[in-house]
Amino acid sequence: MDERSPLLRELPAVDRLLQEPALAGLLEQMPRRLVLAAVQETLQRYRQRIAHHHDESGSSAAAPDLSPPALAREAVEAALRRGRPSLRPVINATGVILHTNLGRAPLAVAAAEAVAGVMEQYCNLEIDLEAGVRGSRQAHLEGLLCDLTGAEAAVVVNNNAAAVFLTLNSCAAGKEVIVSRGQLVEIGGSFRLPEVMAASGVRLVEVGTTNKTYRSDYEKAIAEDTAALMKVHTSNYHLIGFTASVEAAELVSLAHSRDLLAVEDLGSGLLFDLTRYGLPPEPLVQDSIAAGMDLVTFSGDKLLGGPQAGIIVGREKLIRKIRTNQLARALRVDKLTVAALEATLRLYLDERKAMQAIPALRALTIPLSRLRERAEALAAPLKERFGEEGVRLWEGSSRVGGGALPAAELPTVLLSLSTPRLGSSGLARRLRCGDPAVLVRLQRERLLLDLRTVDPGQDGLLLAAILAAMKDEAP
Ligand SMILES: *Cc1c(COP(=O)(O)O)cnc(C)c1O
Repeated sequence: MDERSPLLRELPAVDRLLQEPALAGLLEQMPRRLVLAAVQETLQRYRQRIAHHHDESGSSAAAPDLSPPALAREAVEAALRRGRPSLRPVINATGVILHTNLGRAPLAVAAAEAVAGVMEQYCNLEIDLEAGVRGSRQAHLEGLLCDLTGAEAAVVVNNNAAAVFLTLNSCAAGKEVIVSRGQLVEIGGSFRLPEVMAASGVRLVEVGTTNKTYRSDYEKAIAEDTAALMKVHTSNYHLIGFTASVEAAELVSLAHSRDLLAVEDLGSGLLFDLTRYGLPPEPLVQDSIAAGMDLVTFSGDKLLGGPQAGIIVGREKLIRKIRTNQLARALRVDKLTVAALEATLRLYLDERKAMQAIPALRALTIPLSRLRERAEALAAPLKERFGEEGVRLWEGSSRVGGGALPAAELPTVLLSLSTPRLGSSGLARRLRCGDPAVLVRLQRERLLLDLRTVDPGQDGLLLAAILAAMKDEAP
């Protein structure tokens, strides 16, 4: 005897569903395979509902509506979901400026335009136009990087992990590199310094303790096989209390007195002193170069505010070695990155302009009063609609994120929404699944929005997204 529900036989066939006007219309606009996949997905969902209904038979639940228009409506939704690009812009209302999961630094308009400019056309990526001979893609970046950091030479690769890997592999493979135990960082689970060092073929020699490392610790560890002393910026945590570390200049003087290289992984790579904007001190690339570091590596998409890239600056002889490493080819940057990074670095030639034009820097330094104004403007229509209780403004702080300035407390104004019906995680889900998707912060049952990381031009769009997500909450 067939145990299955007789309702299964009532499910409309695929061809029948495709004749429904809503789906037939979609076929004109969308690839047939997307629409077909959506119809099949919908039928599968109905089969599960029917099975569920059958198992619970005896309960009073109504049988699912199996009319073709009902199924077609659901299939249209599914097709529209499938038709949307998987990678798409979102509104970041988390207040984390360099959010690795949200693509880290948004590009400056000038950088995006530069990318668009070379995207659909040929470009002089590796041609020296004056001499008419083959050139290097690095030529578009090297002059700017040397000018901004004071270094002799520069090379750009895929990301900072690649920069560290290539630096060590080119200059210390088969040898030992000495690092302080207090600096063996892990960045976001994907970059563990000891593992990158091992993969690059160098032997890591750890010295000192977690909280204290002295010059004498490095000194005692130097051996026949030592190639370099390395300093790593503890970019995503901050040691406080009983601590000691060796400054760049001191590490350089020790390394050079013993004919060793001094290299530094700065992580974020800041080019402007942000303390004058009230932020905690963060090492500058040019300071490391001035201190005599032979090679310094940093990211393109952290505080620099550019595209994903790993930048290596330092001594010409060493940079040449890095460029000619066979592995450099596997880690090289593409033309879109070169375009975005060149445009970003050009903004740095004028500090005032850069602070305004580079979104990450703008977000770091936006005045609290401005954040308050915007939060109030957003709260007013929401209060009117949902009542005073559910919509509050709180003092709080934003974070830099992305492994930079871990100790920075950026005072901000948070818009807090409470939604008894959906609950805060229910509302967060709705916002995440909306169009555009909005990412928020959840903190002790409260849903919080931080406008620091929202482009002011998108405040209206954000309001519309909140209203759409909360439409069932209206009293
Ligand atoms: C972020 C970071 C890295 C990794 O940089 P990516 O550009 O993400 O590859 C390496 N070292 C330090 C100290 C960092 O902060």
